[in-house]
Amino acid sequence: MRGLVVNLLGVLALISVAGCGGGGATSGKPTVVATTTMIADAARIVGGHDVEVISIMREGEDPHTYDVKPRDATRIADADLVLMNGLHLEATLGSIVDNNAGERAVRLAEQPGIDPIRGEGGASAAPDPHGWMDVRIFIRYVEGVRDALIEMDPAHTEGYKDRAAAYLAELEMLDTWVREQIETIPADRRVMISSHDAFGYYGRAYGIEVHGVAGISTDQQVQARHIGDLEDLVRERGIRAVFGETSVRDALNNQINQIAANTDAVVSDAKLYSDSLGAEGSPGGTYIGMMRHNTRTIVEALRGAE
Ligand SMILES: [Zn+2]
Repeated sequence: MRGLVVNLLGVLALISVAGCGGGGATSGKPTVVATTTMIADAARIVGGHDVEVISIMREGEDPHTYDVKPRDATRIADADLVLMNGLHLEATLGSIVDNNAGERAVRLAEQPGIDPIRGEGGASAAPDPHGWMDVRIFIRYVEGVRDALIEMDPAHTEGYKDRAAAYLAELEMLDTWVREQIETIPADRRVMISSHDAFGYYGRAYGIEVHGVAGISTDQQVQARHIGDLEDLVRERGIRAVFGETSVRDALNNQINQIAANTDAVVSDAKLYSDSLGAEGSPGGTYIGMMRHNTRTIVEALRGAE
């Protein structure tokens, strides 16, 4: 019995240590929890030295199928602000946020001014959550991050505004650059196939037709007939290259390999960053780096020799 009490006390001590894990407890700064790596990047840039940012997901993790950790609920409950994508991107984390963050959660893709893409079924169809792929929509995300930080911590309004303004100017230039790059691909070659439908907003914004092995989530089974249809598309349109993605399960990238094996297309050497940034210091280690890497990869693979 005594052993049990001691063990219980030990467990309680561990729980309370975990409860103090938030950066705010050690630095005195507000703690901002971001779900995805793209959102964490924006929060770190706009928050600067005034906040501690914790990213729930690490580089390369797939938000659609994220495996919730016991510490996530504690981090979300302890956070001063929770920044997430919304539109059901964070399928497994959604209820954890609902139960632990309440009003302190901001769903950046669900803000006014963002026109979601919906599949067949119109207004009743699930909206596509991958809004960050259109830099103009990501600009709305960053404005939402700025406004949420100011509301949470008005004493540092000036810093949040200044850092956001500098970053937004960079994003404006990025948006122009991506558009100019895609325009260098001959119009009849502006069609791409990747592991899942993460590039719908990219395609809509920059004028490229996009197709995925899987749909707008990575957790669905893929029909063999769909792969056959994609192979027909490659043959009919003379598509030169198809693309794997860094954050999806291997089975989906293997199907990209299969499409190439059965057609004249090649698999692009470089994978695309879709739902996660790359490791720090890698080409996709920041949001801007991710968009530049993806665009260069797509243009080089599809444009071919002039
Ligand atoms: Zn996705």
